[in-house]
Amino acid sequence: MKIVIALGGNALGNSLKEQLQLVRQSAKPIVDLIEAGHDVVIAHGNGPQVGMINNAFEESRKSNSSIPEVPFAECNAMSQGYIGFHLQNAIREELENRNINKSIGTIITQVIVDKDDPAFNNPTKPIGGFYSKEEADRLSQETSYIFVEDSGRGYRRVVPSPKPIDIVEKDMVTTLLENNHLVITVGGGGIPVYKDNNRFIGIDAVIDKDFASAKLAEKLDANYLIILTAVEKVAINFGKEGEKWLSRLDIESIDKYIDEGHFAPGSMLPKIEAAKAFALSKKGRTALITSLEKASQGIRGETGTIIENCKL
Ligand code: ADP
Ligand code: MG
Repeated sequence: MKIVIALGGNALGNSLKEQLQLVRQSAKPIVDLIEAGHDVVIAHGNGPQVGMINNAFEESRKSNSSIPEVPFAECNAMSQGYIGFHLQNAIREELENRNINKSIGTIITQVIVDKDDPAFNNPTKPIGGFYSKEEADRLSQETSYIFVEDSGRGYRRVVPSPKPIDIVEKDMVTTLLENNHLVITVGGGGIPVYKDNNRFIGIDAVIDKDFASAKLAEKLDANYLIILTAVEKVAINFGKEGEKWLSRLDIESIDKYIDEGHFAPGSMLPKIEAAKAFALSKKGRTALITSLEKASQGIRGETGTIIENCKL
């Protein structure tokens, strides 16, 4: 089966040091799927990592004005590079441990968004460090940055989160996959770009990694989208009285549950919406949300939450 795996924050951790250790654990369930004969493409998030890179430039610019302003698209590209390095390094080691002869590499990936996406009128995604009101006012005058007050902790820059439309490097991913190679792609949701004549132009924005992974799975004509996160299953009444862990979510109940507010925006909701979009995109496409540790059991139908469209 052709599987797109979307790795969440818990596969990579919150710091560089943590990541170096965690990726070797995260490699195991991924290689289990490869060992079972599946074709696997790996996507991942980058929230803490791109935040770290962005903060490092911001902080150094505060004391040294000769440091250039580094656009967010470039920070995103840097995060794809070093996360990809850690993942391909750890997965290769695990492949060699099991005598599996496969090569793995990372593609710096651009994802096309619509310049007129309504998200551009309403930036919501906080990135980078916290500023005082005075600093935020000064920076927003010097740059075109938009700042919002974040839960009493200070002012933070926000960027838009547009929806992915297409993956620029998808043909390359397909070719590599057909030739039995493993690919890490759309890291951090991909670098958002829009097309202006023959040129792709990077934008200061963040594409949700769950949506980008679903788009990738659709474009690669994958059978399965597996979203690996910190929970084994999706729940309704999550963390509340009446909590119920679901093994299956059918498309009709999804909309009802979304309306009833069962899935937290910014964490579970994008996964559910991405899973639904993938399952609806073509007959035979299945999405699975489960934990990293349970990936292999999940694909055997033993655990996790399955989202498939039985009506198509
Ligand atoms: P990732 O880094 O994998 O994207 P997130 O933290 O963004 O992870 O989202 C996963 C988290 O969503 C879970 O760890 C859980 O705390 C939270 N969550 C919110 N609503 C639900 C729900 N209805 N069922 C299960 N988990 C939920
Ligand atoms: Mg998330």
